[in-house]
Amino acid sequence: MTNKITVAYGDGIGPEIMKSCLAVLDAAGADLTYDEIKIGEQVYLSGNSSGIADSDWDKLMTNKIFLKAPITTPQGGGYKSLNVTIRKTLGLYANVRPVKSLFPYVDTKHPKMDLVIVRENEEDLYAGIEHRQTNDVYQCLKLISRPGSEKIIRFAFEYTKNAGRKRLTCMIKDNIMKLTDGLFHKVFDEVAKEYPEIETDHYIIDIGTARLADTPEDFDVIVLPNLYGDILSDVAAQIAGSVGLAGSANIGNSCSMFEAIHGSAPDIAGKNVANPSGLLMGAVQMLNFIGRNEAAAKIENAWLRTIEDGLHTGDIFKQGNSKEKLSTSDFTKAVIDNLGNTPNNFAQISYPEKAKSLKIEISKPQIEEKTLEGIDVFLDNAECNPQKLGDDLSKVQSDKFELVIITNRGVKVYPQGNPLTFCTDHWRCRFMAKEDANPDATDIIKLLDAIHQAGFDFIKTEHLYNFAGERGYSLGQGQ
Ligand code: NAD
Repeated sequence: MTNKITVAYGDGIGPEIMKSCLAVLDAAGADLTYDEIKIGEQVYLSGNSSGIADSDWDKLMTNKIFLKAPITTPQGGGYKSLNVTIRKTLGLYANVRPVKSLFPYVDTKHPKMDLVIVRENEEDLYAGIEHRQTNDVYQCLKLISRPGSEKIIRFAFEYTKNAGRKRLTCMIKDNIMKLTDGLFHKVFDEVAKEYPEIETDHYIIDIGTARLADTPEDFDVIVLPNLYGDILSDVAAQIAGSVGLAGSANIGNSCSMFEAIHGSAPDIAGKNVANPSGLLMGAVQMLNFIGRNEAAAKIENAWLRTIEDGLHTGDIFKQGNSKEKLSTSDFTKAVIDNLGNTPNNFAQISYPEKAKSLKIEISKPQIEEKTLEGIDVFLDNAECNPQKLGDDLSKVQSDKFELVIITNRGVKVYPQGNPLTFCTDHWRCRFMAKEDANPDATDIIKLLDAIHQAGFDFIKTEHLYNFAGERGYSLGQGQ
C-alpha cells in the first residue's frame, strides 16, 4: 500500500486549500506521508520555463501518486503549461471529472445532475505545436491518434461499467473535422460493439454543450477529446454550483495525479475564503485509487454532512440555503469535526473496495499501405490576387504534378474563385499527381525547387496520401 505521495502547494489559493486538504486527510487516518515539490510561478520566474525542477521528476516517478494544488502559468513569455507537461510526460491519458448536484444545500438550477466527464488528456490542440507561418497567419496543429483515441474510449467504457453507470456519450465536431474528430467517433463506434450492456449516443460538441447546460440530468458519462473536455467540465462544475466543488483524477498506466478542476484564483488568494472542496474531492478519488477506500468514504461523508449542515464557503453561500459563511480554515475544521458522521439526506457514501485500476489494452496498430497522390504547398504571398497567383503557379514545370486548386483559409479561390472571398497572405496550393505518374519524394523535391526558382515563397508542405483506398486528406471547401 502506498504511504508516500508527492504533494505540491502551487500558487494563489493553492497553499491554503492544500493545507486544508492535508489536515482533513491526516484527521481521517489516511496514513500518508508527503514528499513536497515546488512547482509553478516561482519556478517559472526563477528562469525554468517548464515550471518544475528537473530533479523533481524523479520524485514524481518514484512516488507515482501526486496530489497537486493549482498553479499560475505566467502569461506569454514562452512559459509552457506545467499541467499539460506533467500529464503528457507521465502519460496521464485519462482525466476523470465527476460532477454532482448538492441541491438543495448548494444552489443550482439542476438538482438531479450527476455525471462524469472523461476527457482525453494528451493530444488534440494541447500538443502545443504552433507556428507563425506568414505575416498574418498563425497555426495550431490538432493531432488525434488512433491509439490515443482507443485508450481513452476503452477507459471510458470500462469506467462506465465499473461505476455501475448506464450510458456513455461521445461528443465531437466531426461534421467539420471529418478526419480528426471523425477518427475519435469511429473508434467510439468500434469499441461500443464490445459493450452491448452500455447505452451509447453521440452529439456534435456545440449542441451537446448546450444540452448539457440545459438538462445535465440527461447525461451519465461523457467521453471527449481534450479541448472539448476542458471546456465542458468547467461548464458542468459551474452549473452544479461552483467550480470550487469539483475534483479531478489524471490517470496513467504507471503514475496518477489528483487535483481540483479550478485554477489558482489569484483574485481571492491569501484571504482565507477559498473553497477547498475541489482539491478535497480530488484527494478522495486519490484515496480510493490507492486503496484507502475507508478513509475516502469517511471524508466524503463528513464533507457531505458539512454541506448539509449549511456550513459553506463564500462561493456557495446563499441566504436561505446556507447557515454560516465560513473561512477556508473554519470550513476545514467543520469537515474534520464531522469525520465519523454521515449525511442525513444525501446518500451515504461507501467504497467497499479499492477503485479497480483500469489496465487498458489497445489493439495492435494495423499498418495500411499509403500511396502519394499529391502535395499541398503553402505559399506566403501578400499580393491578394488569386487569379494571377494561380496563372503564374500553373506555369511551373513538373513532369509529375499539376496545380488543381488554390484555397485561402480553406476556401477555394482558384480556379473560378468568388470575388467576395476574403484573402490573407497564406495560400494552400494543391498539386495532384498526373495520371500514372506515381510520384515519390524526389519528385516533390523537384517540384519545390521549381516553385522556389520561379520566385514563390513556400513556407510549408503537406503530403497527400491515400491509405488503403481511403483519402487521407480533406478536400478544399468548394473543391
Ligand atoms: P480560476 O479557476 O483560478 O478562477 C475562476 C473564478 O473562480 C475566479 O473568480 C475564482 O475566484 C473562482 N474560484 C476558483 N476556485 C475557487 C475556489 N476553490 N473557491 C472559491 N472560488 C474559486 O481560473 P482563472 O482565473 O482563469 O485562472 C487563474 C490561474 O489559474 C491562471 O494562471 C491559470 O493558468 C491557472 N489555472 C491553473 C489550473 C491548474 O493548475 N490545474 C487550472 C486552470 C487554471
